[in-house]
Amino acid sequence: MAGEPQAECLFCKIVAGEVPATVVRETETTVAFRDINPQAPTHVLVIPKVHYPDAASLAAAEPQVMADILCESGRVAADEKVDGTGYRVVFNTGAGAGQTVFHAHLHVLGGRGLNWPPG
Ligand code: C5P
Repeated sequence: MAGEPQAECLFCKIVAGEVPATVVRETETTVAFRDINPQAPTHVLVIPKVHYPDAASLAAAEPQVMADILCESGRVAADEKVDGTGYRVVFNTGAGAGQTVFHAHLHVLGGRGLNWPPG
């Protein structure tokens, strides 16, 4: 069923506490944890506790949870003290855009200069 945990999903396992992660924030609907392969001094992933494969399917099915994720990204940036200098939020969507984990997740990147356009 849409939104239900998927047995083989790595991020569902992080939500369930079955795979370790360095959690920095948690709400009723979201978990934020440090990316295991950070691309910037601050690199945190904000994920929904419900399972949807990407941002678009999450937004269509559960727009309030998508709003929760965006609000949490701002709180992460403030906690990490990158809100003043600037930070980036990214949903890679589809393998061609670099998505490797098919459970929606928002990257929060900051703490260094970030070029535009991204690679
Ligand atoms: O957007 P994309 O799907 O490529 O992002 C997945 C991210 O999940 C990667 O940045 C990867 O380093 C991270 N990851 C993690 N912990 C894991 C496995 C992957 O933080 N156990």
